[in-house]
Amino acid sequence: MTRGCEVCEALSGATSSIFETEHWTAVLSPEQGYLGSTFVGLKRHVSSLSELSDEEWAELHQVIKKFERAVRGAFGAQVFNWVCLMNNAFKAAEPKPHVHWRVRPRYDARVQVGEHVFADPNFAHHYDKHHTARVDEVVRSQIQSAIQACL
Ligand SMILES: [Zn+2]
Repeated sequence: MTRGCEVCEALSGATSSIFETEHWTAVLSPEQGYLGSTFVGLKRHVSSLSELSDEEWAELHQVIKKFERAVRGAFGAQVFNWVCLMNNAFKAAEPKPHVHWRVRPRYDARVQVGEHVFADPNFAHHYDKHHTARVDEVVRSQIQSAIQACL
């Protein structure tokens, strides 16, 4: 763990991951504008994709396959927008980027989870970072359980 790294702190404090592998942890995002949005972090503090080991890359491929299969099965996602941006780290005086992915599943239809209905109004276009939805712990837990049931 690297001191002052938000990703290291988030991963060490993650109480309920969707799943983890030897090198990666997948945690459901608090922000669920796009149903099933998830944070996938490398457990080791590495600052760029070019520093990943062959083993970490190979395992990432398995993580992607596992996640996409589960979310497609749980909610019928059509496509997945994976991004590894790390721009926020560079707002700090001493940037400490840490490799992680944010994945937004995308939908051509509305999906209901409990009482909450999720929509993807700009499907087939770039995701809208302002399309956000904070869900309570009950809905969050329902989303996580539905994904885990399809792992
Ligand atoms: Zn870190």
